[in-house]
Amino acid sequence: MRIGFIGLGNMGAPMAANLVKAGHAVTGYDVAAAAPEGVTRADSAAGAAKGAEVVITMLPNGAILKQVAAEVIPAMEPGAVLLDCSTVDVASAREVAAMAAGAGLGSLDAPVSGGVGGAAAGTLTFMVGGTPEAFATAKPLFDAMGRKAVHCGPAGNGQAAKICNNMILGVTMIATCEAFALADKLGLDRQAMFDVVSTSSGQSWSMNTYCPAPGVGPTSPADNGYRPGFAAELMLKDLRLSQAAAEGADADTPMGALAAALYARFVEEEDGRGRDFSAMLPRFEGRGRTSS
Ligand code: NAD
Repeated sequence: MRIGFIGLGNMGAPMAANLVKAGHAVTGYDVAAAAPEGVTRADSAAGAAKGAEVVITMLPNGAILKQVAAEVIPAMEPGAVLLDCSTVDVASAREVAAMAAGAGLGSLDAPVSGGVGGAAAGTLTFMVGGTPEAFATAKPLFDAMGRKAVHCGPAGNGQAAKICNNMILGVTMIATCEAFALADKLGLDRQAMFDVVSTSSGQSWSMNTYCPAPGVGPTSPADNGYRPGFAAELMLKDLRLSQAAAEGADADTPMGALAAALYARFVEEEDGRGRDFSAMLPRFEGRGRTSS
């Protein structure tokens, strides 16, 4: 297929490279980053979109996505599909879908999980909102860039699935870390803690697959000095998106709100920026009940 790819950063560059590897013709554009090997560089977003059957965007946030969409939509041919893989707010995703529909284009919001490693290995999971027709058009591209694509319903539902998943992840990571710190203070060995919890009702992805305690459980960023992985500031971004969505939908999410506040403090006032989101464990280790 002829693909336009806008946003060739940490995620976009390896995703575009995997499309080239799968035999697609990719024209890319980024305001700053260079195009990876095999990707033809365009001079503008509209230039990358012209003549493309699918235009993929992988951008920092909803405001930039809307700006880029306004630029590329007039350059796209009727029937082409605008496929946004960024993580953005649900409202922006739905606005862009309406803009695309108004111009006779298909569109999908398809945020990913799997991080930079998954983007490079082509093992991402896509959570997809949009029409079944647009999903069918993009399916070969999901297969080239990832391992799984779940169609979650109409426009915006991919973003909804992503932020609900990551709200659970943020909350369970904090719970897992504070429980390890409590276990330490009670004299419970971390290996014993892992062996019990990972096979009991406290188990979760945070404990079983991404254990925040170094030297315990499967290899994770904790075994690599808490280098990301999934950076704490990206978790904060997703938790804030979940809270913005909860406000818009009048949903009561007290644990999500608390997780957002804790990650905000960790990233903005403490030493969390640039560290993996599981570095909440050393944070709790150094604290007591009266720590401010
Ligand atoms: P990044 O900052 O490395 O890449 C974004 C790219 O967009 C940059 O190269 C930037 O120059 C470019 N850009 C900004 N404005 C532009 C414009 N107007 N026109 C063209 N290009 C523009 O970020 P990333 O880590 O690649 O993340 C991209 C998206 O994927 C984000 O929404 C992020 O939340 C999401 N995401 C990231 C990860 C991760 O682990 N990095 C995991 C899942 C989802």
